[in-house]
Amino acid sequence: MAASTIPNPPPSKQLLATAKEYDFYKVVQDYLERAAKVAKIEPYVSTILSQPKNELIINFPVRMDSGEVRLFKGYRVQHNNLLGPFKGGIRFHPQVSLDDVKALAAMMTWKSSLMRLPFGGGKGGIKFDPHSVSRSELQRVTRRFTHALGENIGPEYDIPAPDVGTNSQTMAWMMDTYSNMVGSAQKQSVRGVVTGKPVASGGTLGRTKATGQGVVFCILEWAKERGFTLEGSTMSVQGFGNVGSHTAVILSKLGVSTIAVGDHTGYLYNPEGFNAHKLQDHVAAHGSIAGYPGGKPITREEFFATKADIFAPCALENQIGESEAKSLDVKLVAEGANGPCNPAGERILLDKGIEILPDVLANSGGVTVSYYEWVQNKRSEAWTEEEVDARLEVGMKRAYREVSDFARQKKCDMRVAAYAIALQRIEAVYREREIFP
Ligand code: NAD
Repeated sequence: MAASTIPNPPPSKQLLATAKEYDFYKVVQDYLERAAKVAKIEPYVSTILSQPKNELIINFPVRMDSGEVRLFKGYRVQHNNLLGPFKGGIRFHPQVSLDDVKALAAMMTWKSSLMRLPFGGGKGGIKFDPHSVSRSELQRVTRRFTHALGENIGPEYDIPAPDVGTNSQTMAWMMDTYSNMVGSAQKQSVRGVVTGKPVASGGTLGRTKATGQGVVFCILEWAKERGFTLEGSTMSVQGFGNVGSHTAVILSKLGVSTIAVGDHTGYLYNPEGFNAHKLQDHVAAHGSIAGYPGGKPITREEFFATKADIFAPCALENQIGESEAKSLDVKLVAEGANGPCNPAGERILLDKGIEILPDVLANSGGVTVSYYEWVQNKRSEAWTEEEVDARLEVGMKRAYREVSDFARQKKCDMRVAAYAIALQRIEAVYREREIFP
């Protein structure tokens, strides 16, 4: 069949439902400026950090199963590498855009710094719906993008990981492609080019659940600080993918009952509490919560109005705006997702006395365990899951304490505190190294 070039199909109505006018990058910039004031950061440091170091856009062709050639748009934004190699996930989603990737890349810089990791920040993605292509097409898209990225990634330069729409299988394809681009003698030493790999291919135990596990360690610290008893409490979760499902499963072991869940296909309610393990298995088998027999379908509005102790947004950015924030009847919002609250929504939540564990802190377990994977790859070691979890617990709880103490001392919210601590560490290095030439 003669090859023709066709545009990507438009995103589904459901995926577009929340894509209102919203400039994620400006939102992150605003937090940067506010935190810089609180932490009295040298203006030239904020100026440097206000833009990413490198922005890469790659249009690349892939032959589809039908024989047609489709053009894909991929991004990799490298925000900052002062503290170490650029580090951050790869997202496959129809709404991926340069500005969103820039925002997410900057947030990775803050997370790495807050968690004291020797990494900078980066993020990437391809603008398409991974659920709309076959497995072999998905593999070709992934491999072709990795090849096109070429020397723009590397275990000592820029290290991708999973994010929305990607997983350990995606990372296995990326690593395999990259290792076929280097000389035979280097194949083993470049396994650390991506993290979040399957364990048998050089991944680490504990990485798949790491982000959810980190969210839970933060919630535990918050509960301890507030004297709140988790056992017997309730939660709602938006997004039941990697982060949302693991957060729910781990919390269920601590006696927290998930009573409302939602994903891109809809929302479900069960006042008795979902069996988080079974729901996770259902999503693994069917790709979404749709068709799960254990809950009653509810609307998005009803989901946000469900009374619970904790709400864990674990889907996408810009999900909690004014109306959602007004509806929410919870004590705590634990941000598993990046940027789930927009500024208007956040303001309302804080005014209502609802506490927020900010993304930069709450979901940094993923990059932290990615760092452990990278270290194991370098040392040819394999740590036990208990060791990974124990290290993560120490790291998350320390970061929580620092953010909480800073927020109290400076009378700012926890998000500004998290940004401020991250900025102070970066500023200290700029002061020492100064600006070349
Ligand atoms: P995932 O692809 O595994 O899951 C995403 C979930 O969001 C799915 O359940 C999907 O159905 C749902 N979703 C998508 N669009 C939606 C919509 N319009 N309305 C409601 N639900 C919708 O992705 P993930 O890795 O779990 O990532 C989720 C969030 O966590 C993202 O913001 C991501 O950046 C962030 N995050 C992920 C990691 C990680 O290690 N995977 C680390 C840190 C932060």
